[in-house]
Amino acid sequence: MEQNSSNFIKNIIIEDLETGKHKNIITRFPPEPNGYLHIGHAKSIVINFGLADEFNGRTHLRFDDTNPLKEDQEYVDSIKADVQWLGYEWEELHFASNYFEEMYNRAVILIKKGKAYVDDLSQEEIREYRGTLTEPGKESPYRERSVEENLDLFERMRNGEFENGSKVLRAKIDMASPNLNMRDPVIYRISHVSHHNTGDKWCIYPMYSFAHPLEDAIEDITHSICTTEFEDQRPLYNWFVEECEMESKPQQIEFGRLNIENTVMSKRKLKQLVDEGFVDGWDDPRMPTISGLRRKGFTPGAIREFVKATGITKGSGAVEEAMLEHFVREDLKLTAPRTMGVLNPLKLVITNYPEDQVEMLDAEINPENPDMGMRQIPFSREIYIEQDDFMEDPPKKYFRLFPGNEVRLKHAYFIKCNEVIKDENGQVIEIHCTYDPETKSGSGFTGRKVKGTIHWVDAKHAIPAEFRLYEPLILDAELEAEAADDSSEDKTFLDYVNPKSLEIVQGFIEPNMEDVKPQDKFQFFRHGYFNVDSKHSTAEKPVFNRIVSLKSSFKL
Ligand code: ATP
Ligand code: MG
Ligand code: MG
Repeated sequence: MEQNSSNFIKNIIIEDLETGKHKNIITRFPPEPNGYLHIGHAKSIVINFGLADEFNGRTHLRFDDTNPLKEDQEYVDSIKADVQWLGYEWEELHFASNYFEEMYNRAVILIKKGKAYVDDLSQEEIREYRGTLTEPGKESPYRERSVEENLDLFERMRNGEFENGSKVLRAKIDMASPNLNMRDPVIYRISHVSHHNTGDKWCIYPMYSFAHPLEDAIEDITHSICTTEFEDQRPLYNWFVEECEMESKPQQIEFGRLNIENTVMSKRKLKQLVDEGFVDGWDDPRMPTISGLRRKGFTPGAIREFVKATGITKGSGAVEEAMLEHFVREDLKLTAPRTMGVLNPLKLVITNYPEDQVEMLDAEINPENPDMGMRQIPFSREIYIEQDDFMEDPPKKYFRLFPGNEVRLKHAYFIKCNEVIKDENGQVIEIHCTYDPETKSGSGFTGRKVKGTIHWVDAKHAIPAEFRLYEPLILDAELEAEAADDSSEDKTFLDYVNPKSLEIVQGFIEPNMEDVKPQDKFQFFRHGYFNVDSKHSTAEKPVFNRIVSLKSSFKL
């Protein structure tokens, strides 16, 4: 998908264009509107839209809305918004539910050819009869119903004469096939439930494995790209295309799904986190959803580049979270203004600085991108520094502020700590320092050196701000438990939610930031990249989400 890197899907497309199998390629991104998109979907989006772009083809956005119970208009709207935000525009927008009539007619073709039958076995019986990998399946007693009887029953299923679960339509393939998917799969089920698009028109709904190949063929999709869980379904996919006499013959191609270490990537589980209140919605910045990443402050470019860098292969090993973070740092490095923010403030008084004086200091907005210009920062007698930039009794190699030590205040002066003020509990509440006017930043002072540089904001002018710091939502153990015992997955998953995934602190920012708007991004000196939160920020008090820390060398 990288413009000039090759991959096996691209090679197939190149060959299909060269041999004349296709003149134009058409791909599709086919989400089921049963949740918000996550970063895994971004991979599918980048592959499908990216390949079509590269070969002057087209991409459809198709809602695979064949399961009315789980689907919702809210999801449809969010999916469209997320695809566009990622930077893609579909040529055609489709809903699988618009093909219900055609799908029904294609099922009738199967029945007429003796290739589908109405079965009265229960769901459990069908599962039992299916057999196992080592045991052939058993034929249903209803398998030999006549074409006439099947046509009549199927029509009555459609007309609503039967209860949910009392009958299904099954493809008649091979109950002894070594591929379990080919053992007479169910293709229609009865479900008396309203659909968000078709309302009460239908009470039978097609199963995914039947619907999907037909949707692709109806839309003349040339390359139907999906993840490797569907590899075993490919013979069935081709069988439906063939036996339903579809004019177009799309080719299913599988690639390995994207997994990120320590990250839950399943709409079902993400929905549970939302429904049970572990997060404040699908767009909570801790969620690996596109909307969560957006609110946290990730950029479309960072997500696209990350996904491309994971490559297209058949395998699906998990990549590190750090890889995603790398790409957002890269993307923001030259564009995010630098600024100073104090997250856990400690008052510092510069005792030899004149009481009523305020001076404006010059600072680069982004030293890596001088075109961004300069900003001005007020400086006066009282400032805030970070609590952990002071220690009364420091260990060796602590180069920040402690009694008797001198440090540089970023963009300002050297200060030296002379006195520590404590409350009645012995808690440090104020530091008294003196500054040396000779040492002003940019003045070329070379008289002596200090080892530490700390950030600060002017106490009188600072704007109060809230900072939200994130840790992984799910602890490592979750994935371990899942790997160790797949069947207990449901029980254990929520038990591994990290209780410390969100830390909220109240601090201060530079006064020149009074006009920040939601989604504005900054690099706070030493703290990392932050994004103005779109839900909680107000004009009086901005709220900043930490996108990612800097690779910090300041830690003790
Ligand atoms: P989930 O299991 O999270 O619910 P899904 O596959 O059921 O995902 P769909 O709405 O069917 O969700 O997905 C739309 C497309 O996105 C499919 O073609 C699917 O293969 C692809 N997709 C989903 N998850 C990933 C992933 N982790 N990596 C790559 N592609 C993915
Ligand atoms: Mg799916
Ligand atoms: Mg799913």
